[in-house]
Amino acid sequence: MPTLCIDFGGTEIKLGILDGPRILATTTRPNAGTDADLDRVREALDELTLSAGRSDFSAVGIALPGVVDREGGTLVAAHDKYDYAHGRDLREWALQAFGVPAVVENDARAALVGEATYGVAAGARDAVLVTLGTGIGTAALIDGQLLRGVHDHAGILGGHVTVDLDGPLCNCGNVGCAEAVASTWALQRDVASDPHLAASPLGERAARGPIGLRDLVETRDTPEVRPLFDRYLRAWGAAIVTLCHAYDPDIVVVSGGVMRSADVILPSLEEYVDAHLWSSSHRPAFATPSAPEFSVLLGLSALAGHAGERAATHRKDAS
Ligand SMILES: [Zn+2]
Repeated sequence: MPTLCIDFGGTEIKLGILDGPRILATTTRPNAGTDADLDRVREALDELTLSAGRSDFSAVGIALPGVVDREGGTLVAAHDKYDYAHGRDLREWALQAFGVPAVVENDARAALVGEATYGVAAGARDAVLVTLGTGIGTAALIDGQLLRGVHDHAGILGGHVTVDLDGPLCNCGNVGCAEAVASTWALQRDVASDPHLAASPLGERAARGPIGLRDLVETRDTPEVRPLFDRYLRAWGAAIVTLCHAYDPDIVVVSGGVMRSADVILPSLEEYVDAHLWSSSHRPAFATPSAPEFSVLLGLSALAGHAGERAATHRKDAS
């Protein structure tokens, strides 16, 4: 039976009805950062079921961009937009709103499940995922088990490994995190604080509106921007080296909208990791999802599918 999958992202909320890897319908809603977002998600259901041509689903999968308490179904920690989800039981909300059980998971973990179940890492039992974007999200799969840790923090804080002891303070409290050195929010700070960059083609774009990592890639061949682009590549490479040292993966999945320029980024990352990884470490394969925007929904489909099956078994046992 299909599942309803809801990806509360940094810039928008993506909803889908999926049957395993098949996406029957999707839609998006703006992310206003208030609990009215939850009402808009509930109201989007009619549009979705009409478009999918069916309204039955066995469970709801919910992904959030932060540390998630799966037992309580709540968000424990994230930045800005999701204050309203802190301490709120989203499984209870989903049960009230849709009448079926729900699973709540960190978005990078969901993306890794999606890619390792249906996507570019299908069948892998040891994999790491890194998403480059507003921040840097990570997740790890070890011997087929999604790494969560006893306090639900394991594997997902790889964007917060220190890559520069003298680097900027991160909004997590740590110093010189990969995310504080090389992410969309770091880029906006870098361009605003450096007159040379502000006068560059990248700075011209920043003067017209918010810039992202794709702007960095597209302007990398100018003399002012090139050193910054190279620094970002090294920061991402250093974070991936640490993830490989920690989790020993067969495959590293690098995702995020900027990976539409995978041909520019992936070979450099692979070269950096190969050069700096522990000498006898396995050299992992590198891959980028064919449709990174749907990794999270696919993972939620797999996770919620299991929850739906468990609920059906319970009902059967009880009757
Ligand atoms: Zn940090």
